[in-house]
Amino acid sequence: MKFNPATALEKVHELGSFNGVNQSINDSATFAFESGEDMTACFNGELEGAFLYSRHWNPTNFALAKALAAMENTEAAWVTGSGMAAITNTILQLCSAGDHIVASRTIYGGSFAFMKSYLPKFNIEVSFIDTTNLDEVKASIKPNTKMIYTETVNNPMLQVADIPKLSKIAKENNVKLVVDNTFTPMIFSPAELGADIVVYSMTKYVNGKNDTTAGAICASEEFINSLIDLNTGSSMLLGGPLDSMRSSSIHKNLYTLPIRMIQHSKNAAYLADKFNAMGLKSIYPGNENHIGNDTFKATMNPGFGFGGMIAIDLETAERASKFMTLMQENNVGYLAVSLGFFRTLFSNSGKSTSSEVPADEQKKMGLSEGLVRFSMGLDYDIEATYKTIEKCFKAL
Ligand SMILES: *Cc1c(COP(=O)(O)O)cnc(C)c1O
Repeated sequence: MKFNPATALEKVHELGSFNGVNQSINDSATFAFESGEDMTACFNGELEGAFLYSRHWNPTNFALAKALAAMENTEAAWVTGSGMAAITNTILQLCSAGDHIVASRTIYGGSFAFMKSYLPKFNIEVSFIDTTNLDEVKASIKPNTKMIYTETVNNPMLQVADIPKLSKIAKENNVKLVVDNTFTPMIFSPAELGADIVVYSMTKYVNGKNDTTAGAICASEEFINSLIDLNTGSSMLLGGPLDSMRSSSIHKNLYTLPIRMIQHSKNAAYLADKFNAMGLKSIYPGNENHIGNDTFKATMNPGFGFGGMIAIDLETAERASKFMTLMQENNVGYLAVSLGFFRTLFSNSGKSTSSEVPADEQKKMGLSEGLVRFSMGLDYDIEATYKTIEKCFKAL
């Protein structure tokens, strides 16, 4: 039977201490050893099941990581205080001075900024390309390339990565394929499709409450252990683990992720159809004419839809701004960055989340200055929501 992330998640649910139905929160930064010998053995990595210090591991983060690994069908996982920590820890673990990265040009603004403006300090070179163009990917690989970096469904154009084909190229060239699956948990299982490492900003859909930032890295046990190596691990040495309190609350929210993704997708698909019928071309991977529609259908996990992200082009930044203000005033949702919230969030990508991307790069991405991105909420009555949006559009 094909892997299903939702049922995989249910299978690893465990009781907490005293048979509490949720995992217990372990509220300690450090852990006591029974003997001096045990402490020494732990530092030598020879003591199974013991905890040392919370920046390394703690039981609450361990329980969440176990659930995430099950959901991605990877051997192990690691949780961080933000998505950027997950991404930067991964990149710095894989790459050293003199190495090269092939990265998608159309990625989260922070990831782009890190690779474009921060990595040069360490003499790590990045080629920004269109990772949906497989010939360009192949042509960009150099003898010193260590990784291919892409998002499954990218921001804000919602292009779809062909993970099986990228994985084949990565394997042929002995480089790692790192996939940011933030936009499409449940819908895609990148590791199942051949990605070596899957990263998340859990701030978004995975947690779904917009009450904290958090991140995750799902990969082989070997890679996760390398991240927390006391001498050479980028997670261990740069710091930035998730706090236990937040870890516990994210862990509980994780179990409603499958049903939330279904509802986010349902609402976005409804709006895409309505926008298209209005003659307003929507950018939505569920549209038959969307550039990534075939790849999406060929690689998706069935049953979770095409995701909750949708964009429309209002042509100018002024019109986009007026439209968003009207929508907020009419309670469609909030004029805010971020995504995966239970209420709808909207922003003008070129002027907000992609503003780190210079104007010429934005042009290459095909990003219009009037692009309004929606992260559709869990609205119960999407028809009513649509009617309000239509009213705001007509008032422009
Ligand atoms: C938000 C986001 C990030 C960064 O995550 P933080 O939790 O804000 O650090 C990375 N990738 C994508 C696709 C995102 O949307």
